[in-house]
Amino acid sequence: MPEKFDAIVVGAGPSGNAATYTLAKAGLKVLQIERGEYPGSKNVQGAILYSDALEKIIPDFRDDAPLERHIIEQRMWLLDDKSFVGTHFRSEDYNKPPYNRYTIIRAQFDKWFSSKVREAGALLICETTVEQLLMDGDRVVGVRCDRIGGDVFADVVILADGVNSTLARKAGFHPEIQAKNVALAVKEILFMPEEVIQARFNIGEEEGVVIEMMGSVTEGMVGTGFLYTNKDSLTIGVGCMLSDFKTNPNRTTPYALLEKLKKHPSIAPLIEGGEMKEYCAHLIPEGGFHAVPKIFGHGWMIVGDSGGFVNAAHREGSNLAMTTGRLAAETVIHAKAAGKDMDAKTLSAYKAALDDSFVMKDLKKYRDLPEVLHNSPHFFSTYPGLVNRAAQTMFTVDGVDKKTKEREVLGSFKAARKLTGLVGDAVKLWRAVR
Ligand SMILES: Cc1cc2nc3c(=O)[nH]c(=O)nc-3n(C[C@H](O)[C@H](O)[C@H](O)COP(=O)(O)OP(=O)(O)OC[C@H]3O[C@@H](n4cnc5c(N)ncnc54)[C@H](O)[C@@H]3O)c2cc1C
Repeated sequence: MPEKFDAIVVGAGPSGNAATYTLAKAGLKVLQIERGEYPGSKNVQGAILYSDALEKIIPDFRDDAPLERHIIEQRMWLLDDKSFVGTHFRSEDYNKPPYNRYTIIRAQFDKWFSSKVREAGALLICETTVEQLLMDGDRVVGVRCDRIGGDVFADVVILADGVNSTLARKAGFHPEIQAKNVALAVKEILFMPEEVIQARFNIGEEEGVVIEMMGSVTEGMVGTGFLYTNKDSLTIGVGCMLSDFKTNPNRTTPYALLEKLKKHPSIAPLIEGGEMKEYCAHLIPEGGFHAVPKIFGHGWMIVGDSGGFVNAAHREGSNLAMTTGRLAAETVIHAKAAGKDMDAKTLSAYKAALDDSFVMKDLKKYRDLPEVLHNSPHFFSTYPGLVNRAAQTMFTVDGVDKKTKEREVLGSFKAARKLTGLVGDAVKLWRAVR
């Protein structure tokens, strides 16, 4: 008789680890399957870790998790080719434990998380790809792996296999991934001595800074850049919607955008001398609320990137991944305790829990934002230039009186977007984020 588990989790990223850990901790018999050589070997993230989601799973994670720096300062920059206009928020409250956000290196973090999963009692098999779901009618009863005798059975299968889940697509749970619903991001890790990072970013030991950027660097495509401080390295990256790369008249590549970002006069001095340690590219599901597929059925649930759970407006993904993983696991635990069958009716409790959490509330709040941004490329091309020129006009002291300067600034906005366009853009944006 083939072995049967209470649950099988496919994938050992944050969503899969959260689900597997929660299930194993509750005493369930869980198998986790990961195609990578080890958890983290196939994963890409900025990476900012949001403490709250992990605290709800492993409250004392700070004791031994590989954390780089806690974030004390958030910068938001609007770039044009020569300058930026920015806001910085820095608070001593962020310098008091328990810290709210950290930078992490995913390969190390995922390995650590996985060690907790195994300590909790789950069985992890790496270097094994799940090729398809085993069905009995419309019910998932197990998985088929790329090993001899690779059929394994369970009461429920949790798909935590990341963006572009081929398993869900093959089973007909997902439609084909659409270019307008995913961003393609590239990033580099640049090695740099700790003291240099601390001096350049005006931070002390263990303190960190996040810089999020938008503007000319994405050449009018919907996308953003980012720069994060790790302990002795910096992470720099940029991502744009895949549909925009496809239609970009200059046929720009993600790599070319990253090179351009690194050469920006406001960025270059911050990363100067950095030695490249790692380069990677990955998709991010950024379709938001309307792109979330069906996430449960008879014997199956979908968590994390596989379900499109990313809040692109706030650059949050791993926390949604961990929360969806935890909520899916709790659904199974409650069902098991109540002796219920793992059918769609029972597993619909997962959707109800999600709807009640920040995950769906936030995705719903920003549900129209992807469409608005997609149809308004001037937010990424025209406005950053206008705002930077306005700042330059107002801050340059050249004998021209301030009233004349204000008229010049207003005139440049009206010439670029007309009054109706400006009002229309403001209303559209307000409606999309209210
Ligand atoms: C460049 C970049 C920067 C980002 N920055 C941030 C950030 O700063 N903060 C943040 O919160 N989020 C960020 N994100 C998003 C975040 O990385 C994801 O939301 C998160 O990793 C999703 O976790 P997951 O477990 O659902 O998927 P993943 O981490 O992708 O894990 C899926 C796992 O499933 C495995 N797998 C896939 N198919 C199979 C199969 N058939 N069989 C076996 N195993 C399989 C894969 O090998 C992988 O290990 C970023 C993403 C990118 C690309």
